[in-house]
Amino acid sequence: LEEQLRQSQKMEAIGHLAGGIAHDFNNILTVIVGYGNFLEMDESLCKQQHEQVDQIIAAAERGSQLTRGLLTFSRKQVMNPRILDLNTLVGQVQTFLLRIIGEDVVLQFNPAPEPLNVCVDASQLEQVLMNLATNARDAMPDGGTLSIEICWQHVDEAYARSQGYGAPGRYACIIVSDSGSGMDRATRDRIFEPFFSTKAVGKGTGLGMSIVYGIVKQHKGFINVYSEPGEGTTFKIYLPEASSETGEDVSDQALAAPELG
Ligand code: ADP
Repeated sequence: LEEQLRQSQKMEAIGHLAGGIAHDFNNILTVIVGYGNFLEMDESLCKQQHEQVDQIIAAAERGSQLTRGLLTFSRKQVMNPRILDLNTLVGQVQTFLLRIIGEDVVLQFNPAPEPLNVCVDASQLEQVLMNLATNARDAMPDGGTLSIEICWQHVDEAYARSQGYGAPGRYACIIVSDSGSGMDRATRDRIFEPFFSTKAVGKGTGLGMSIVYGIVKQHKGFINVYSEPGEGTTFKIYLPEASSETGEDVSDQALAAPELG
């Protein structure tokens, strides 16, 4: 629990800081890219100077991508929750997921035999799935399988208490597994930490999983990770079953969410 508190305080502090800086920084980078593009059209530049200008533009664009990630992270996105069937939602993002994972990774989708109604913001949940798929792809450079299973799970009192929030009851569960590199314990322990990344500089921002964590928590759900080096990775995401009560709870939170940026 203390660890979770530390984590959420850290997320909040970084979120405030990031939101403030990212906005102004993005404007500065836009100026650099803009003048860079002007300079690139200058015919009096030699080949070497052209290449140097290209490097400046590429670096500024990379910076801009990072600040955009920061803005998404710091902005507690306003929730637009709706009651919908999880099978249908995941089925609908399949095309996007296929595009992310590429041709070397096989996607297996096992929907539940019955509809599972949850009260969620569809675009935020899509973002969760896309972030998980991006990491799965990066963990399977030589191909593999990404499987997504949907089922009901019961969360008991002890589990809810161990998480520090949420209530026991029936939850819709999305189980996302990849056959990739897996993680050692040190990585697994820090996976939801903002800016934690094991990827090469310029490849990872370390924000993907903290965004996933934030979205799941905002939905009053839980996320668990199971992974061993060389044995692949499984994420289990629990979302509370939709009832009129959860619907109200979630929208209240949306009204309280600040808009930054
Ligand atoms: P990024 O992908 O930008 O590095 P994330 O927050 O999305 O940032 O992930 C943090 C780290 O967690 C990754 O750098 C990687 O080490 C690890 N990770 C996340 N998902 C997986 C996965 N499916 N398989 C192996 N490692 C993973």
